[in-house]
Amino acid sequence: MQHIVQLFIGSELARYGFGVGHPFGPDRMDAFWQEVLRQGLHKKVSIAAPVLADREAINRFHTPEYINRVMERSESGDGYLDYGDTPAFKGVYEAAATVVGTVLAAAEEAINGSYQRCFIPIAGLHHARRNMAAGFCVFNDAGVLIETLRSQYGIQRIAYADIDAHHGDGVFYAFEADPDLCIVDIHEDGAHLYPGTGFANETGICAAKETKLNLPLRSGANDADFVRVWPEAEGFIRAFKPEFIIFQCGADSIAGDPITDMGFTPKAHAHAAASLCRVADEFCKGRLIGLGGGGYNRDNLANGWCAVLSAFVDC
Ligand SMILES: [Zn+2]
Repeated sequence: MQHIVQLFIGSELARYGFGVGHPFGPDRMDAFWQEVLRQGLHKKVSIAAPVLADREAINRFHTPEYINRVMERSESGDGYLDYGDTPAFKGVYEAAATVVGTVLAAAEEAINGSYQRCFIPIAGLHHARRNMAAGFCVFNDAGVLIETLRSQYGIQRIAYADIDAHHGDGVFYAFEADPDLCIVDIHEDGAHLYPGTGFANETGICAAKETKLNLPLRSGANDADFVRVWPEAEGFIRAFKPEFIIFQCGADSIAGDPITDMGFTPKAHAHAAASLCRVADEFCKGRLIGLGGGGYNRDNLANGWCAVLSAFVDC
C-alpha cells in the first residue's frame, strides 16, 4: 500500500544555510530536490510550502533572552551565535524560525490526519540548546516540536530516533530527566567526534532513567554494524509505546561525508525509516515526521533523504 506523504520544500527553507561554500550551505535543499525530481518521487508525494513560526512557538523551547540575541544578530548579520561554529547572517532569525514553523506545520498535518507521514529536509537541528546555538543549529526544531506536541495537542509520550553521525545533544540534555521522551541515538562515538557526548551509560536521569538509548559506533561503522544494532533501537521504541515519532535522519552518517567518519550507505536510512513506519502504524496512528538533519556531501544527503522519503511512501 502506498502512503500519501507530505514533503515541505521552498526557497524560504533553503535559506537556512551559512553561505556558499559552507558545509551547511543554502544549496543543500536543492541538491535533495534535484534527486527527488530525478527519481520521480515528487509525483508520489504532496508538496507543501514552508511556514514561518511565531515567536511564541519558539519560546516553548528556547529562552526569551536567546531569541532576542538571535533577532539582534539577524539584523546586523555579524559575529557568531555560539563559540565559533555557527555564524550569524542577515535574516538568520527568519530562516531558523521557518525551519521551526515548517516542522510544526508538518505536525499539525500528522495530527489532523491529512498526511500522517511528513518530511522536512532542512530541519533536525539537534545541537541547539534552550539558551544557545551550537554546531550549525540555531533553533532546535525537534525540541520546539516536542514541547508543542505536549502543550498544544496533549500528546505526551514521544519517541525521538536520531541516526545522524553526531549525537543529538541539544535534544538529549534538554529532555534527559523527562520520562515521557524516549530517545534512541545511533552516532559516531563521542570519543572521536563532535559534540563528544552520547555514551552508552547515558540512559536518562531521575525519573527518566532507562528511557534513553545511546548506541555509539566506531568510526567507519558500516551497514552491517547498523543492521546489527537497529533491532535493539526498534525494540526500545516499541517497548515505550509512543504516541508520535520524530526521526532525525542525518545523512552525515553515510560514507564520504567531509566532516565525519562513518561508513553507512542510504540503505541504513531506508532500513530505519521502514522500521519506524511500521512502529508508527502500530502505536502512533501512523504519525511520523522525518527531519533531514546533517549531511554535508551533497550526493549523500540527496540519496539518503530520498531513501527515507521512498520508505515513507512505500512501507
Ligand atoms: Zn551531524
